[in-house]
Amino acid sequence: MNLVNGNGNGNSQRNNIQVSADELTVVECECGGSVFQQAHQIHKLSAAHPKNPTGEPQFMNLPVHICLNCGHVKTNQDLTE
Ligand SMILES: [Zn+2]
Repeated sequence: MNLVNGNGNGNSQRNNIQVSADELTVVECECGGSVFQQAHQIHKLSAAHPKNPTGEPQFMNLPVHICLNCGHVKTNQDLTE
């Protein structure tokens, strides 16, 4: 993860896969809910971090998904596990 240069849009891996809806599986929360609302977590690299040469705190927005049934927050990484 490149915090300093990350733009948080996460779209670099998205490509032109051609699939129909019936080839996809619905991602479900542990509660069984399958409807999520997209939101963002703001991740911060402190100004004092040894890997931060800028002297300023750096921020990156990471997309997360909130289960509308139970409120559980899932990251993209959670969804791939
Ligand atoms: Zn849930």
